[in-house]
Amino acid sequence: MSPGKIFIFSAPSGAGKTTLINCVRRAVPEIVYSISATTRPPREGEVDGRHYFFLTEEEFRSRIQQGEFAEWACVHGHYYGTPRSFIDTTIAGGRSIIMDIDVYGKKKFDTLYPAAIGILILPPGLEKLEERLRARNTDDEATIELRLANARKEMEFAEKYGKYEYSIINDNLEKAGDETIRLVRSLL
Ligand code: 5GP
Repeated sequence: MSPGKIFIFSAPSGAGKTTLINCVRRAVPEIVYSISATTRPPREGEVDGRHYFFLTEEEFRSRIQQGEFAEWACVHGHYYGTPRSFIDTTIAGGRSIIMDIDVYGKKKFDTLYPAAIGILILPPGLEKLEERLRARNTDDEATIELRLANARKEMEFAEKYGKYEYSIINDNLEKAGDETIRLVRSLL
């Protein structure tokens, strides 16, 4: 049996990455979603063990020390990490994984899993991104400012140092959704 593939989606927040990942998950149900751990408090409607494993900082640090993460990063002031054992058992069993990692985490991830396929989702422009972050209505003003400043840096980092085999500009959700699904299917 050949091992499963790993698809990594990265994007500045607000680029529509989560929506596109969900499109792929619906259209390609055999692909498995890797649930990350985070110290960020749950947003309304988020469920522990489904959207994230919500951990305290102490728990998170102890897991870092035990080598349990394939990569971890501090994003917008909170820790995020990818549990390693889940990835290894899933791909060894021949199933492919889709995951959401920020551009810095992806860079670290590449050293352990160089065959992972990187897909970068980009907003049509920073102004559009700001509009979307505001429309989402999940973050306060300071958080939005922080996310916008980070988005700028993340896009620069991805361009200079990232290994992304594919990029998709999300200017129209339906079109970008179809494009993403077609891409993933063609690579499975
Ligand atoms: P959010 O708090 O909006 O769900 O996610 C914030 C950022 O954390 C996003 O850029 C997302 O890609 C990143 N993120 C989510 N899970 C992981 C992970 O396991 N590792 C890393 N490095 N970043 C992650």
